[in-house]
Amino acid sequence: MRSLLQRYRSPVSMNYRRSCLVCGNSVREGKPHCTNHIEEMPYVQQVINRIDELKLEKEGNKKANILLTDAVNVLAFHGGACTIPRLSKDLSISVEVAIDIASELVIKRKATSFKTKRGIEGVGLV
Ligand SMILES: [Zn+2]
Repeated sequence: MRSLLQRYRSPVSMNYRRSCLVCGNSVREGKPHCTNHIEEMPYVQQVINRIDELKLEKEGNKKANILLTDAVNVLAFHGGACTIPRLSKDLSISVEVAIDIASELVIKRKATSFKTKRGIEGVGLV
């Protein structure tokens, strides 16, 4: 005589699924999807989304690093220092992004910030 628990887990249990929710192919161990449609599972979907996020982050970091290198080159071109508006124009980026890049250089101790006599913010290589 089988116990209640065994009966619950047995393949004849009402919850036991035999076919994929997407294509109807047979599935293993009562899973809701076959191997071709495993990405339909919420957990797998979450993992896929996270991987996409990480890829985007990595790409963003790569672009930011290229921009930082370009900024250092612009500063070097201007004798080691220039104003934020100049940096923005030379790199063809917005003033906001130029400020971000300048801040990043300061945080990384590659540059220091200063103000011109006219009060315009600038950044200079260390
Ligand atoms: Zn399927």
